[in-house]
Amino acid sequence: MSSRLIEWAQQQLQEISEAGLYKHERLIDSPQGVEITLADGRKVINFCANNYLGLASHPRVIGAAHRALDRWGYGMASVRFICGTQTIHRELEKAIADFLHCEDSILYAACFDANGGVFEPFFGPEDAIISDELNHASIIDGIRLTKAKRFVYKHLDLADLEEKLREAQSARFRVVVTDGVFSMDGDYAPLDKILELTQRYDAMLLVDDSHATGFVGATGRGTPEKFGILGAPNLILTGTLGKALGGAMGGFVAGPAPLIALLRQRSRPYLFSNSLSPVIVATAKEIFTWLSETTELRDRLEANTRRFREGLTRAGFDIKPGDHPIVPIMLYDAVLAHRMADALLEEGIYVIGFSYPVVPRGQARIRVQLSAAHTFEHIDKAIEAFTKVGRALGVLKGAVVG
Ligand SMILES: *Cc1c(COP(=O)(O)O)cnc(C)c1O
Repeated sequence: MSSRLIEWAQQQLQEISEAGLYKHERLIDSPQGVEITLADGRKVINFCANNYLGLASHPRVIGAAHRALDRWGYGMASVRFICGTQTIHRELEKAIADFLHCEDSILYAACFDANGGVFEPFFGPEDAIISDELNHASIIDGIRLTKAKRFVYKHLDLADLEEKLREAQSARFRVVVTDGVFSMDGDYAPLDKILELTQRYDAMLLVDDSHATGFVGATGRGTPEKFGILGAPNLILTGTLGKALGGAMGGFVAGPAPLIALLRQRSRPYLFSNSLSPVIVATAKEIFTWLSETTELRDRLEANTRRFREGLTRAGFDIKPGDHPIVPIMLYDAVLAHRMADALLEEGIYVIGFSYPVVPRGQARIRVQLSAAHTFEHIDKAIEAFTKVGRALGVLKGAVVG
């Protein structure tokens, strides 16, 4: 029996390989940052991390983590409700809630766990969950763990969403679920319009703001700030500490206090998984304090994003319009996207090509992600390298030459 399984796994791996879908992991031999060293010694400028605010190895963050390690220790070796809650765990939950204009929040080991644990305690067979078709895998899995009726609406399609809300009117509870920002296109869910629909049809709104918390919106409070719905009474947010907010580990749910309190009693990834390391908790607290004091980091990220998007557009690239630091550079052809990423690495620019099944067939691209830690020199070097490689591969629109 075991040998049959092992043979099957080997066949699967071969099929993945033959289909050209095998994911190879590049080894990094330095801290995460905008300038990294690969295991083969190459020094490259990194344009593919979720390190939006440049905090992953920022000196202030490392300093806070060192102090936290000495003050609070390394691990908790307990779930929260036995002996895994330090004062800082509650302080961080309050800081997240305050930052996001919510009543309370609850920590998880990751946003994957937050999404895995946020549906099942609330929604049963008599309820309806209405979900954007491009929502993150962890949302899809979280919904699967419930017995609720499922409705999937077309990506960002408000008319289809309204139709699903109507179909779900006999349910006890309804919740509309969406990513705030979708990671492949960097496009936003129009939360003002979605909120209006949820209120008209008496539904909750759950937004996973993993690609937004800390930098989207005028003061970095995410897509609810960008669309003017912060503090809406029927709003539940999930998010990650693993992207802009230091990039270590950790996730959260924020929302109305009774819902958060019930999650503490019933949410399985919270109840049956270890407490978040005090090093992460105390450091994240410092990061929220920092982001509450000043918008300098998200402002720099915004300026960097604008410079990169304008530079590539001027060079004649086909990029998806928008203002998010996720910049999809459309090549449509999978082989071309991967060849272009390889050629850019030769130029010292670390980017990744995305193709089916990560994006739809015929939608292959390079996805660049900007960081507040990039300097204008980094960005200009990238624009220059993209232009050189793009010209060599013949992907530039003739528009502006020179
Ligand atoms: C990255 C991401 C997650 C997973 O977050 P982790 O904290 O890394 O588990 C969940 N949802 C969305 C939309 C994400 O982009």
